[in-house]
Amino acid sequence: MEKLGEQASRLVLVIYPFQGHINPMLQLAAIFHSKGYSITIVHPEFNSPNPSNHPQFTFISIPDKLLESKVSLSPGDFMSLVLALNKNCAAPLKQCLKRILDEMHPYERIAGIVYDALMYFAQTVADDLGLPGISMRPTAAAMLLFAVIPHPDQESVFENQLPELQPLQLKQMVAAMSENPTDAMSEVRAAALNATKRSSAMIANTMDFLEEVALSKIKEYSPAPIFTIGPFHKLAPSNSSSLLKEDAYCISWLDKQAPKSVIYASFGSMASLSKQDIVEIAWGLANSEQPFLWVIRPGLVLGSEGTELLPEGFQEKVGERGCIVKWAPQREVLAHDAVGGFWTHCGWNSTLESVSEGVAMLCKPCFGDQFLNMRYICYVWQIGLELDNELERGKIEGAIKRLMVDIEGVEIRNKAMDLKKKAEICLREGGTSYSSLNEFTKRIL
Ligand code: UDP
Repeated sequence: MEKLGEQASRLVLVIYPFQGHINPMLQLAAIFHSKGYSITIVHPEFNSPNPSNHPQFTFISIPDKLLESKVSLSPGDFMSLVLALNKNCAAPLKQCLKRILDEMHPYERIAGIVYDALMYFAQTVADDLGLPGISMRPTAAAMLLFAVIPHPDQESVFENQLPELQPLQLKQMVAAMSENPTDAMSEVRAAALNATKRSSAMIANTMDFLEEVALSKIKEYSPAPIFTIGPFHKLAPSNSSSLLKEDAYCISWLDKQAPKSVIYASFGSMASLSKQDIVEIAWGLANSEQPFLWVIRPGLVLGSEGTELLPEGFQEKVGERGCIVKWAPQREVLAHDAVGGFWTHCGWNSTLESVSEGVAMLCKPCFGDQFLNMRYICYVWQIGLELDNELERGKIEGAIKRLMVDIEGVEIRNKAMDLKKKAEICLREGGTSYSSLNEFTKRIL
């Protein structure tokens, strides 16, 4: 990749403090760093990333006053949290940027403020200081239709623009994200739309070939250019930014398993399940007879460690065939030769990580964009199977066998390998993500 010359340019990246947003932002930071930029990461106090994992970046924590705002930090109050962060962090970010500008050497400059799209206040701060604001989109580009189409009837945005993703129910997507979905959602959407209009560019963690239809629609409506430079984690090496400790034991366990035999089950950092779900999943995995690696993170079942909910007789039945950890080094797991399938909640990072490694998916979305991602995986790209309705052990067992053993699964896995090859092409010289990144640094920075 081309590097900068003697210019001393700094990029300031503003984090939205949740795992699925911290990871892509720090990966993007690694990409820009590899292009010669100095990096400052500004983050709220809540869920601070660990600076010692990224010694090449400068980290600045800003007060978020979340305790004073009395916002619940659960996914159920997602929209109120977004609103509180945007209200509370604007003044501290401005002060922090002014300080950086004051203390900077004369030959240095801030090339831009790259902010998570949910931290849209950063665009206003960038405008006030005369700096370019660039919004980073850690979701499928299709979700951007929300941000760029000023449509009074939200329900019909996806329906009109993306027939290939139907049926998609907006109500289902926003349920569980806000106690009062309509009001809070509208407020966030209007503010995000406003920021997008004023931004110099948008960077999306996606690849052109995955979302051709959505991207062409977005380009039609969006006032700001969009640069598709995903998957971020493959463009430059980046250290882990996990908030929970990764359990390396599962890698040595995977080393002992047959190639493509293991189903890896993980539901990301936010999704929550019921006690009964844990029991059904446990018996579904046990009865499938496949080796499995299952992440039960503390809080997966609200207020519980999760593992104490495993049913009696389960451990005896599975023995060494199952490995359960609290948090896995997921990118390494998906790249491991023993992994043949990924049972996922369809978070966008997990989706891209799986696509990049050619791993077929079993999909059980929980909320938000996960339903949209599931439709891409199962019905557009056809590299996964949908697990719909309530979690029930017999259905789980059947779905795992369909994906891991049956002829249907072989076809799905072949398609997943084809997508992996296409993804590799995107990242090479001349590929769409590679070129888009170079274009971004030339035109915007
Ligand atoms: N992840 C991980 N270890 C785990 C589970 C998840 O490192 O045991 C990482 C995963 O690689 C991904 C992120 O956490 O980068 C989850 O993001 P995603 O968008 O998939 O889901 P979210 O957590 O936002 O719902």
